[in-house]
Amino acid sequence: MYKVFDPRQLLHAPDVELHNGRLIPHVDRPARAQVIAERLGPFGPAEDFGREPILAVHTPEYVDFLEGAWRLWRDSGRSGDAIGYTWPVVKRRPLQLDRIDAQLGRFSYDAGTPIAEGTWAAAYWGAQTAVTAIQPLLSGSVRTAFALCRPPGHHAGPDYLGGYCYLNNAAIAARAATLAGRSRVAVLDVDYHHGNGTQDIFYEAKDVFFASIHGDPATEYPFYWGHHDERGAGEGEGFTLNLPLPRETTLAPYLNALDLALEAIAGFDAQLLVVSFGADTYEADPISHFRIATSDYPRIARQIAQLRLPTLIVMEGGYAVEALSENVGSFLSGF
Ligand SMILES: [Zn+2]
Repeated sequence: MYKVFDPRQLLHAPDVELHNGRLIPHVDRPARAQVIAERLGPFGPAEDFGREPILAVHTPEYVDFLEGAWRLWRDSGRSGDAIGYTWPVVKRRPLQLDRIDAQLGRFSYDAGTPIAEGTWAAAYWGAQTAVTAIQPLLSGSVRTAFALCRPPGHHAGPDYLGGYCYLNNAAIAARAATLAGRSRVAVLDVDYHHGNGTQDIFYEAKDVFFASIHGDPATEYPFYWGHHDERGAGEGEGFTLNLPLPRETTLAPYLNALDLALEAIAGFDAQLLVVSFGADTYEADPISHFRIATSDYPRIARQIAQLRLPTLIVMEGGYAVEALSENVGSFLSGF
């Protein structure tokens, strides 16, 4: 399997986040990617494809904001990491405001996703990691590739960050595939959390099918996306499939939902598959609530591999750091 990792992604190291009303050490630690890179290598380096593939998914205003936000925060006299505290929720005017706090509100949707000194560099190289990893799938030289991305990406929308995500690595790779001539690409999101950013990016697209299996947003983050009646809109109507599952879901019902997602992807006649893989479906994950065991991951992966599509696996969440490399290795072994 072709594997890509860029160590500049470790530069993203926020200090704290707001969680259950308290400031706690930021859960997306650099060690997450480090242990996977050390134990599942060798990994090839990321190439630099520039901003173009990023701007095929994210707005220029948002990308400029992300690149400059930490500097703007520090220039406004603050210490620590940039974090928003005011959001233009309902029916506010789309004002172009300069103040960093107003911009943080405009370009984010939660308070758990700080911008630290190395965030832009890490997110940029995360996106390049995904774009690099999809190249040999497009040329046909490999069938399966793994992009070890960090920070994760699937909660980041066209013009917003959230859920520890800044640039949507999986969506950037999927869009790079359609721009390279694949007319039907599927994104299968098997992170514990709904991939709301990916859904928003492709909600009205007919060339990218998005399927997600995740903790039911009636009780799980990100709450406002991922309900079963969200099915796409406009030309994209019917090309979004949400399969929310309750807390404590074990392997058997999980595989049933996976069958439905894979059937839909096969029905779409996808030519290439991008898997947003989060190891936070793991039974001992500190912030999630499914009951998937390390030994279950090859079963899940083998079922996905039965689609027999060129497949890019993009790393999303997974916060049980002590078990993370084993869980990821277990999943990859199924391919
Ligand atoms: Zn997650």
